[in-house]
Amino acid sequence: MMLKTETSKLFMVAMLFLLAGCGTNPVTHKRELQLVSESEEISIGQKNYVPARQQQGGDYIIDPELTSYVQSVGNKLAAVADRRLPYEFVVLNNSVPNAWAMPGGKTALNRGLLYELNSEAELAAVLSHEIVHAAARHGAQSMETGMLLQGAVMATGLAAQDNRYADLIVGGAQLSTQLISKKYSRDDESEADLYGMRYMKRAGYDPRAAVTLQETFVRLSKDHNSSFIEGLFASHPPSEERVTANKATLAELGEGGIWGKEIYAQKVGRLKATRAAYKAYDEGVQVLAKGETGKAGLLAKQATAAEPREARFQELLGDIAMKQSRNEEALDYYRRAIDMQPDYFRPYVQTGIVLNSLGRPAEAEPYLKRSNELLPTATSYYVLGQIAEGRGDLNTAMVQYQVAAGSESDDGKSAMARYQRLEIASNPAKFLRASAQADNMGYIYAVVYNPTSVTVANVYVRVVHFNEETRQPDNQSDPLLAAAKLSSGQRAQLLLPGVRAYKQADLELFRVIVERAELAGRR
Ligand SMILES: [Zn+2]
Repeated sequence: MMLKTETSKLFMVAMLFLLAGCGTNPVTHKRELQLVSESEEISIGQKNYVPARQQQGGDYIIDPELTSYVQSVGNKLAAVADRRLPYEFVVLNNSVPNAWAMPGGKTALNRGLLYELNSEAELAAVLSHEIVHAAARHGAQSMETGMLLQGAVMATGLAAQDNRYADLIVGGAQLSTQLISKKYSRDDESEADLYGMRYMKRAGYDPRAAVTLQETFVRLSKDHNSSFIEGLFASHPPSEERVTANKATLAELGEGGIWGKEIYAQKVGRLKATRAAYKAYDEGVQVLAKGETGKAGLLAKQATAAEPREARFQELLGDIAMKQSRNEEALDYYRRAIDMQPDYFRPYVQTGIVLNSLGRPAEAEPYLKRSNELLPTATSYYVLGQIAEGRGDLNTAMVQYQVAAGSESDDGKSAMARYQRLEIASNPAKFLRASAQADNMGYIYAVVYNPTSVTVANVYVRVVHFNEETRQPDNQSDPLLAAAKLSSGQRAQLLLPGVRAYKQADLELFRVIVERAELAGRR
């Protein structure tokens, strides 16, 4: 619902923009016409910052000193940027080397990228580049030209990034996926490199770090380094041209400035020391998806031994226990994960699923609702729909299923099937087909056909007769039981006593209307 409103509004904006004609927008120049106003741009970024971080693994919270360090470097660069925005910087708990900025200046850097950098100046090169994408409205412009907001299924212009949860997201939060997986154009990349290096220089960093970093990226892309390709390179493709252009910018700005190799090494020391634990965790997630619970268990134990405070490791132990139907144990692990990091959606979803499967729907409900506040998913809405249906609140159930069905995931499809089932029950006449048919003796039958995927029961029809001259109804039957049970694809016929049709025109005076029907046997 939310997405639709937002989409149509921005679509109108996009149309106006096309009519008005567009121009390029260097950071230092004011654009002639901005259709997404600055306040809208900031509010879009603010609204989508939480769901974007959630779907990327959540914030990396166990090393707050590291986060403050990244923030201090980001703030130094933001202070010298050409455009004042409410910039914000977080480190995400994700092993894929990646970084992104939303319209309005909300920026994130993955833990996985910090392993790969070697100095504060390189970190500054990444952050200043992202700051320019936000400052120059590279994301906001896509909204204006209608490149985004075509629905989550739209693939053009989206980078193929690793995102485990993207297809589960429902409603307005689907926009966040698009905002962080936008593939920037070559022009956007040149502009971000050029101004990013200027900001580095202004903040006292050696802009040469942007050249060496780009050289490293080109080398890694030639080596087909897969984690970079699904991460940073998907949205910011590296190239020899960028290296050449950055060298020219460097000649203009002049070498020299802070590198900060030692401070960087010190600040990421703890992170690098636990890298193996996260590698074990990532492998554990992968092997569990293949059903190898024993192997996943060993990897998860290895990870928790090295970093006992990591909520994601407890969550993995919970997932393994859940897969092995050790439900109470799974609940314990999820509870621990929630205690360690209360603002991450997934252990709430999992707790809700387990509690509901244990026949404790009332306890499950608040967990599922909390998860939807953090990241609305088809899974949570689907289970909430089942809980509502279970207590006989069919209207609520239909609403929840409908929201869940906004996702292309398996849970979204299952929710759609449940929704249709309830809709059929609430208005069977809309779905069953009924007509009057005659055999070659002229006997007339009320025929009902069930084109739906579900079995219906107690199908009652009413037969109405129309006057040959006035074409108005002149007689009708009481409700007649046409079928006690009618399976999917099945047909039932009921002889109408005392009437005959000897020609087609006679038959056309009869109408058969489905009066009511029920779902056969609740699942
Ligand atoms: Zn870029």
